[in-house]
Parts: sequence; structure tokens; C-alpha cells
Amino acid sequence: MSATVIDPALQHAYKEVLRRNPGESEFHQAVEEVLGSLGPVVKRHPHYLAERVIERLCEPERQIIFRVPWTDDVGQVQINRGFRVEYSSVLGPYKGGLRFHPSVLLGTVKFLGFEQIFKNALTGMPIGGGKGGSDFDPKGRSDAEIMRFCQSFMTELYRHLGEYTDVPAGDIGVGGREIGYLFGQYKRITNRYEAGVLTGKGIAWGGSLARTEATGYGTVYFANQMAGEVDDSLDGKDVVVSGSGNVAIYAIEKVTELGGKVLACSDSSGYVVDEDGIDLDLLKDVKENRRERIKAYADEKGGRARFVEGLVWDVPAKVALPCATQNELDEDAAVAMVKNGTRLVAEGANMPCTPGAVQVFQEAGVLFGPAKAANAGGVATSALEMQQNASRDSWSFEHTDERLHEIMRNIHERCVETAEEYGRPGDYVFGANVAGFTRVADAMLALGVI
Ligand code: GLU
Repeated sequence: MSATVIDPALQHAYKEVLRRNPGESEFHQAVEEVLGSLGPVVKRHPHYLAERVIERLCEPERQIIFRVPWTDDVGQVQINRGFRVEYSSVLGPYKGGLRFHPSVLLGTVKFLGFEQIFKNALTGMPIGGGKGGSDFDPKGRSDAEIMRFCQSFMTELYRHLGEYTDVPAGDIGVGGREIGYLFGQYKRITNRYEAGVLTGKGIAWGGSLARTEATGYGTVYFANQMAGEVDDSLDGKDVVVSGSGNVAIYAIEKVTELGGKVLACSDSSGYVVDEDGIDLDLLKDVKENRRERIKAYADEKGGRARFVEGLVWDVPAKVALPCATQNELDEDAAVAMVKNGTRLVAEGANMPCTPGAVQVFQEAGVLFGPAKAANAGGVATSALEMQQNASRDSWSFEHTDERLHEIMRNIHERCVETAEEYGRPGDYVFGANVAGFTRVADAMLALGVI
């Protein structure tokens, strides 16, 4: 079952994407979902078709693929592949994270880059869209190996970057430690302290307070806004979060702060259930300090929490926040969740729900907040970090968090208003796609045939 029907006027553009990018199924999925919303838009604004805006948007401005050779701790040479897809720069410098994970292929980076264009547009901030990464697997690697890999990666990538050109950040497998090594090598090669060339930096050397928390907090602010559309807030609600990385951890923190209870979270090995609510200090210790599997959480808690080798979506909860990775929640899981009483889903990860799952949620009247709106708080706070770097200033946590909160409120409003304007009230997928697309498309037209 697929949720998406592409308007005949856009079929040719979509078929060309399939033909020219064979085998890149995640990229196809992301394009199909956006084009699926644009039928009514091109009917109302036929000049987007005449100017071939959609064909232009489907083709990245630039795609960089490079070899990343490095030496491991036993002296063995290792070869990985590096990517940077510079997708669209009409709204600002290319902006988007780097993902280090063995599953990363060109199509993965293209899907993430394509999503990033519209997400970044939705924030209302001056940032274009891009994404990068490598099939490097950081799991089990020493700090020294991570450093040598990051140095080799940046030795090739640096020539394509710049605070006005392309500004990477983190994503899966890339956090504060990796951004430090990458920034160190960029600075060394260029002999410039160009703080605005990367975001997610450490607080002592140009980073922004609240950037670490921003994606998870932002997702919960967005979910809370969505909840406000039907009753009041997440207060008193049971919540299930998938993942236990940066996005999941800070989503759990904010849900708990707002009075909700997170019953379960997961990693690729399974999930833990804690009826008392997930103990964040313990989770951070297991995942951030010890870098262990999630089972260690249950082991520490003795009988008061349990580890299960399975899908976290089996745990009934009114609210679900998928914060792990793409296509982690499929149609079968969605059917079970609807039966178990799930009423609100907001995506903290990028494209975690399959098209079939989205359709199940929407048909059952479950409020569904798509990633490009719900997880935009991370990149928005990256843009705030760039602002601070440009003015050589640093803001307080409270000020930055308040700006993030306001940005999420605005994104929510943009989605709701756009969906209503086209007679699709409550359809956040449509609202996010159309509001994001319109901002990029209008800028493209203003800038000429580029
Ligand atoms: N990787 C994050 C995302 O998916 C953040 C990107 C950034 O801060 O540039 O939006």
C-alpha cells in the first residue's frame, strides 16, 4: 500500500527521477512523497511547470563522491567512500548533516539532501539544502581511529566547504567528537578559524548552547503544538520513543519535563520498557559515556525495567516519536499501533515511517507530523549557531531555546495554514511539503535559470 498518488502533470518528472537514478529506492521514496503533494500547487500556479522548477529541484546542483583512505589501530589500510550532495543553494549556503553509517550509499545521501531542502525552507531561515556522509562504521572504533578517519574525510571535503558555500553538521554517527576532529583538520588545512563552516561545535570553540538538545526538543515542541490542536498538551500522556541517540535522548528529556511519561526506547538490538518512565541519567550514561547496547539499561535497573529483542512499537502508548532512522516503522506496525490507541506520531528521525504507515495513520485520523517539519529544530538551531558565529557572539541557553521554540511554533503554523489554504485541514504532510516547496520554488524563479 502506498499513500502517494502523483498528479499526471508531474508523472514525467517522477519517471525521469526513476530512470536517471536507478536503484536509489530511498531517494525515489522521498521524491514520490513530495511530488505527491504538488498536484494542486501546479494547478494553481502553472508557471512552476512552465519553468520546469520541479525537474530542476529533482537534480542536485552538485554531487561529490570521494575515496577516504585511513589506517586503523593495527596498521591496516582501510578504504571508505565519502559523499557530499550539494542539493540546493537558492535560499542560502548548502546546509545539512554528515552521516557515518555502513548503510550509507549515494541514494541515501540524496534522499536526505532532498528532504533537507524543504525542511530548511520551512524554518524560514537563510539556508539551502545538502547532506553528506560515509559508509564508515564508527561502531567499535577507538577515538584515534575516528580522528584519523575524520581527518582523511576532511582532507578531501574541505575544498568544497565554506561559511558562505556549504556548512555541514552532524547526523547519525557524527556528534560533538567528530565535528571537533573535522573542524580541527579544516582549520589546519585552510589556516583560517572559520567557525561558521561547521555547526554542532563544542561550546568552548564556537558552538551554540541548545544545539545538542535542539532536534529532540524541537520534535517535542512540534508534537505539543499538534496535541494542542485536539486537546491540550503532552502532559500526563504515555509516550514511546524509538532510538537512543542524540534525537531520542533530548526528546525523552523534553517529554518528561512537560509532564509526559516515556515508557520505552530502543536501539538496533531491541528495546527497553521502564514503567516508571525512562531514567534519562542512566540512558545517557549507557549510550553517551559507555557507548553500550541498550540492554545495559535493563541490567542496571534490575527487575524494574526489561529488555526485549523486538520492535518498540509493540509497546502501547498514545504518542509515538520515531527518532531512530529511515523506514523503521512500517505499515504492520502502524496498524498495531492504531489498534493499541496511538493518537499522535511526530517524526524525530528523517523519514522513519514508510509510505504505507503514513497512510494507515492518516486514514485512522492519527495526527501525523512529518520529519521535515517535526525535526527541523536541529538544523534551525544550526542556523542560529551560524548567526552567532557571524556576529562573534554567543547567546544564553534560554535565549536560544526560546528562539527554537518560536521557530517550531512558526513551522507548525505554516503547515496548518498551508494545508487549510488548499482544503486539506490537519494534513501536515501536505502542509509541510507545499509550504517548503513554495518558498524554494519562488526563490528559484527569482534567481533565473540556474
Ligand atoms: N542532520 C540534521 C538534520 O537532519 C541536522 C543538520 C544540520 O544541523 O545542519 O536536519
